[in-house]
Amino acid sequence: MPETIALRVAVETPHHTGVSAPLTYTSECLLSPGTLVRAPLGRREVPGVVWHGGVDANGAPGLRPLTQALRSLPPMTSAWCELVEFAAGYYQRGIGEVALSVLPPELRKLDDAQIANRIAKLTQRLNHDAATVAAPPQPALSAEQAQALERLATLGTAGGAGVALLHGVTGSGKTEVYLRAAERTLAAGRQALVLVPEINLTPQLEARFAERFAGRHIVSLHSALTPAQRLRHWLAAHLGLADLVLGTRLAVFASMPRLGLIVVDEEHDPSYKQQEGARYSARDLAVYRGKLEAVPVLLGSATPSLETWQRTNEGRYLRLGLPSRIGGGALPRVRLVDMNLLPKTKGANTTLSPPLVDALQQRIERGEQSLVFLNRRGYAPVLHCGDCGWKSGCPHCSAWRVFHKLDRTLRCHHCGFTERVPRACPDCGNLDIAPIGRGTERVEEQLAELLHGADGKPARIARIDADSTRLKGSLEAQLGAVHAGDVDVLVGTQMVTKGHDFRRITLVAAVNPDTSLFSSDFRAPERLFALLMQAAGRAGRNALHAERSEMWVQTWHPQHALYAALRQHDFEAFAASQLKEREMAGLPPYSHLAMMRADARTPEAARGFLQAAAQIAATVAGADAVMVYPPVPLGVARVADVERMQMLVESPSRIALQRFLAQWLPLLRDLRGSRTGAGERILRWAVDVDPLSI
Ligand code: ADP
Ligand code: ZN
Ligand code: ZN
Repeated sequence: MPETIALRVAVETPHHTGVSAPLTYTSECLLSPGTLVRAPLGRREVPGVVWHGGVDANGAPGLRPLTQALRSLPPMTSAWCELVEFAAGYYQRGIGEVALSVLPPELRKLDDAQIANRIAKLTQRLNHDAATVAAPPQPALSAEQAQALERLATLGTAGGAGVALLHGVTGSGKTEVYLRAAERTLAAGRQALVLVPEINLTPQLEARFAERFAGRHIVSLHSALTPAQRLRHWLAAHLGLADLVLGTRLAVFASMPRLGLIVVDEEHDPSYKQQEGARYSARDLAVYRGKLEAVPVLLGSATPSLETWQRTNEGRYLRLGLPSRIGGGALPRVRLVDMNLLPKTKGANTTLSPPLVDALQQRIERGEQSLVFLNRRGYAPVLHCGDCGWKSGCPHCSAWRVFHKLDRTLRCHHCGFTERVPRACPDCGNLDIAPIGRGTERVEEQLAELLHGADGKPARIARIDADSTRLKGSLEAQLGAVHAGDVDVLVGTQMVTKGHDFRRITLVAAVNPDTSLFSSDFRAPERLFALLMQAAGRAGRNALHAERSEMWVQTWHPQHALYAALRQHDFEAFAASQLKEREMAGLPPYSHLAMMRADARTPEAARGFLQAAAQIAATVAGADAVMVYPPVPLGVARVADVERMQMLVESPSRIALQRFLAQWLPLLRDLRGSRTGAGERILRWAVDVDPLSI
């Protein structure tokens, strides 16, 4: 009998099986850790990655042999394996599950010969493309940029911090700093990884990198790629052929053998947090990866997350500031419209205050553009019958269905349930059912009625939101129209506030931002402030217009401290006051949270599970270092007929919380199988470590 070797392999096991560690298989030959393989699991063949440790020269009896090894693919580096293992442990998921979820899905399908073939093709193509291109012109750095870059070069030296925060207002030239930092990295023969929150919204960034690094190989990694593209780009990074990888959160796991720099643009952006499976924060993993691979990490933002800001306060991250806009452009003047002062005429529509409408009209007459945003798409958030009180609720969710006037539908934005708008009230037959509140469609309609074009023609109003950009290419087309000056007023959701370099916009208006002021989510003010600062940053990007650019905020709470800080563009004051509140309330970054969630058909079953879990929690060693709060329903408790409950776990110590979770969660796996106190099984449970929304 030939000698066999026992190997540990991280295979993809379903989360609920509770198998989180690598399993042992036998192999005819020694395979290095990081090699991709196929292994039998039950009656299936699943993909896996050879893991480090536990090699045994004489495989124990009863072990199953691996079915395939993808030997033409160079093994994943040990740093990559370590990152995956850390992420799996920290976010409480299986190692194999995390490893396989971040590799290109195509790798599951191809056999060794096919992979060898793809690699050959890719290498050939890149050799073919390689051409020397003259270096493109670069702008002379501003003094602030030069200083930031100088200090960046000291990162990680003399035992100092390896992470820097580039804190610069919008238009202060942060991207130029990323470009220069990447240039140095490439010049040193290494690869740079640049993370962006939403690649669809930032084609400009990709274009800027492509322009600057003409002749270099740049690949993108995000979920909008076709499976074949994703494999090709991933392979280019993995084989070290790509110099620069630009991608969304999943790219933090890009395999890059020569990694020399990680940039996280808009580091505060919530989309860096994965919302299913392993709920990782790509920003936090980027920092971890930087440490692991001794590579500098550059986080950039105009409104850093309070977690990051606090670390710069503590000196754990280096803080680099770009306080002024390039070209000396002023930031827009912030004007608060006190909605309490408007005459209260019954039934009159106060969405758009008369002074704002006048200001928009003036812009049109001067040939300038405006941006109006509110965070609600559709025409109106709810339809209502004045006679019997019927409202357009969703039968499957605890939410209203939104009225979309263009296609006359009622749509649930949570489960997607869509119906045609009823002709009359379904309960009492009243023909007069009316929309309450307003969304982007309605604001667009109202603006078209209220405004007129410069030359007596109708004003040109465009709308950008998830509805208007559903078709591929439509976002680009609409943005193109704005850039070309074919639009007077752009209406949109927060989608339009991010990243775009609109040169002709001199007025930005937030129609109804107050709703976030009194949210139960402690991060709502932080998010609102970031959103408004970001939106303000869309105005006056052309220094010629900067002097008269304005940000209008319609509010019922003009005295609120958040707006006071916004008026001064004073992130530091805002951050200081928020951090003080967080400290007093014992909230992050002064404490560490995990959210346990349970989904079930009935709220009783979900609550029963969480209560049982809380009882078990009390028995776990180290339970005294954490606080488990009572279960509460989510903001929207029922979605698609599933009742959702959550339970907060808090600890002043991250390590104590981690230790506790690692002991507690395995004990809950049996709980799911058995019937809970309420008599019904739950559908699923999961824990979210460092949850972003509460
Ligand atoms: P941010 O990323 O901070 O919003 P950008 O890097 O996009 O700012 O810079 C804003 C504008 O200023 C861009 O059009 C950019 O090309 C230009 N810019 C940046 N740095 C310089 C510089 N040193 N000299 C001239 N123009 C610059
Ligand atoms: Zn009715
Ligand atoms: Zn619904």
